[in-house]
Amino acid sequence: MSKELKEKLFLQKKDGWETIKEEEKSKIFAVSKSYIEFLNKAKTEREFIKEAKKMADENGYKDIMMFDTLKPGDKVYFINREKSMYLAIIGEKSIEEGLHIIGSHVDSPRLDLKPNPLYEDTGLAYFKTHYYGGIKKYQWTTIPLSIHGVIVKANGEKIEINIGEAEEDPIFTITDLLPHLAQDQMNKKLKEGIDGEDLNLLIGSIPYANTDVSEKVKLNILNLLNQKYGITEADFTSAELELVPAFRAKSLGFDESMVAAYGQDDKVCAYTSLHAMMELEKVEKTAICILSDKEEIGSVGNTGMESHMFDFFISEILNKLGINKPNLLDKVFCFSKMLSSDVDAGFDPIYSSVSDKTNAGFLGKGICLNKYTGSRGKSGASDANAEYVAWVRDILEKNNILYQITELGKVDIGGGGTIAYILANKGVDVIDCGVPVLSMHAPYEVTSKFDIYEAYRTYQAFWKKN
Ligand code: MN
Ligand code: MN
Repeated sequence: MSKELKEKLFLQKKDGWETIKEEEKSKIFAVSKSYIEFLNKAKTEREFIKEAKKMADENGYKDIMMFDTLKPGDKVYFINREKSMYLAIIGEKSIEEGLHIIGSHVDSPRLDLKPNPLYEDTGLAYFKTHYYGGIKKYQWTTIPLSIHGVIVKANGEKIEINIGEAEEDPIFTITDLLPHLAQDQMNKKLKEGIDGEDLNLLIGSIPYANTDVSEKVKLNILNLLNQKYGITEADFTSAELELVPAFRAKSLGFDESMVAAYGQDDKVCAYTSLHAMMELEKVEKTAICILSDKEEIGSVGNTGMESHMFDFFISEILNKLGINKPNLLDKVFCFSKMLSSDVDAGFDPIYSSVSDKTNAGFLGKGICLNKYTGSRGKSGASDANAEYVAWVRDILEKNNILYQITELGKVDIGGGGTIAYILANKGVDVIDCGVPVLSMHAPYEVTSKFDIYEAYRTYQAFWKKN
């Protein structure tokens, strides 16, 4: 009797793996398999957008600039400077009733090259770096790194760089001090153990032959780069080169229940939402998928969510539907609903003291809803209204999707932000909704395949809802 009463009254927090049947397990593993394959091709924002475009093209989406007019059922996208992308399926209902938006980001913490990166010291050549996003610097030393990005020459010619991923490619690394000589370093705070200015990438050691000029190793490297890419040192000025871990994304564990990979914040939500959108056909409300850039450094700049590029995209849709009029854009936003699909901190039993166990997100227990973000007194929080949380809950419960409502860390410790507040400021109802991650922002992050599948199902159900 009391057992039944408890079952009726308590909020159930189930382990996802215990709720599924054998045939569902193979579906769960299949989605993660395609996710892993995608991650191995898309480690940076530019690569993600390139792969996303391929997927969209194969699934009947076209550049919005190719349309003069739009009608329900049309599938369009807009790519912003190769780094962010917005996709839409025009809904059967009037767009004035609002959009259903899912927004994630495709940039991840990494090391960028400085504008004057190349130097030589004591017979070794290096690239200087400037880290991007919130990293624990010590995690980026003594691991294999690859170089991704573009070099654009003054004449506009663009050279795509991807070195360190193919089996036959060399890799690069940042050295660290041997323990024997690290007494001083080991006494420092972890935060200060590695200096940002010391994150220099080792790239070569052979001097240019038969010459008595200075900086022969640097000369040799520049000569190799000139032969391979036709560039000179000045071309680094107009380059965007990013160092990312050269590890492959892999299944993790004897039971292969998890995914270990670089950049899962937030490519796990970006991929699952994109994947869900590719399977959508007819929708009632216009479905929008945002893949944004620069979230890790505050969503700034013309490829970040703070820019007006997204408003431009929606305005273009209104123009091409032939219905645009003053203030219509504001109206559309005010009637729109959004899932800000960004990752959550997974509860880590090894570091349990930073989390409130009653309000943490657990791996394998489904998608995490963060009603609010912010930190220490909800400062800077985007806080979803109870009415909207109820609306989202209803979708999840009706579709038997396992979810957990969570906070990122303890009250006085945790906090963080996403792109949620930016859309909330436009009048959109927004809640953060994503996959819990272990070792977030580390070179190798961990997620559960069960949660990845629930994210995919959540995003699909959200877009299908009237
Ligand atoms: Mn994120
Ligand atoms: Mn992040």
